[in-house]
Amino acid sequence: MALDEQRPTWDEYFLMLAKLAATRSTCLAFPVGAVIVKNKQVVATGYNGSPSGSAHCTTQGYCYPGLSSCDASKTLPSRAVHAEANAIAQAAKYGISTEGASIYVTLEPCLSCLKLIISAGIKEVFYETSFNSGEKALVRDSFVNEGLVILKPVQLSEATAKRAASFILLSTSVASYDIVNNS
Ligand SMILES: [Zn+2]
Ligand SMILES: [Zn+2]
Repeated sequence: MALDEQRPTWDEYFLMLAKLAATRSTCLAFPVGAVIVKNKQVVATGYNGSPSGSAHCTTQGYCYPGLSSCDASKTLPSRAVHAEANAIAQAAKYGISTEGASIYVTLEPCLSCLKLIISAGIKEVFYETSFNSGEKALVRDSFVNEGLVILKPVQLSEATAKRAASFILLSTSVASYDIVNNS
């Protein structure tokens, strides 16, 4: 295989960055990461967790007493800021335009985040795992059919994922003649 073929695609690259952002999640619910991209440049990142400055769910050991997800209660509103909302908030905080941007997320946005994404001028959503079903999917599809946003599932190839894992596990910047001679 040509060495060039080992490079991740842009979609894989940004999805991997979203996965890395998810490792910083502070909520006990499943980790989610988001990366806002414009002209192939990362402009903001986010992960799910309590608002800046508030106690982390991972520090408390619970989201609400007895609950291991900020979204699990039927009555209590979520404590967590979702990854996409945090990425958009980060852009707002530092005065970075999200007009015409794309967002890569490890989980398909919930409707609240999708509405925020649309209103922030973000035009494309690339997600790894699907989330909305039933009536929520119908609302999502109505936004898509209105031409407000494009949603596309993306996946890492196994080869890319394995190569990235080895980059993370081992010293990455080893001179290439060492890699060639030792493999
Ligand atoms: Zn939580
Ligand atoms: Zn959300």
